[in-house]
Amino acid sequence: MSHDAAPHPEPTDCSEVLLRVYEYIDDEMTEQDYARVRAHLDECGECMTAYERDRLLKALIRRSCACEAAPETLRLSIMTRITTVRVGHESVRYEERISYDER
Ligand SMILES: [Zn+2]
Repeated sequence: MSHDAAPHPEPTDCSEVLLRVYEYIDDEMTEQDYARVRAHLDECGECMTAYERDRLLKALIRRSCACEAAPETLRLSIMTRITTVRVGHESVRYEERISYDER
């Protein structure tokens, strides 16, 4: 593959790449568009940084949705949280009283 052959028929714009970077990550592009974006990322550091950031963000979101695998743990942690909130409410009242006495 040589680089100095055909010049880009229509140079890909940064804004277009940034706009479609999610399609690129999700592989929802035509092969032609995919190749254009890919060629642009190879040449443009700024778009590559944006792409890497969005890709990591998507991976994080996907991972956080994986908690469906442990519904029992989730249920327990929610019940624990409800108890904690109730206990926390009581202690807030106590704190209010203490700070009243101090004033
Ligand atoms: Zn760019």
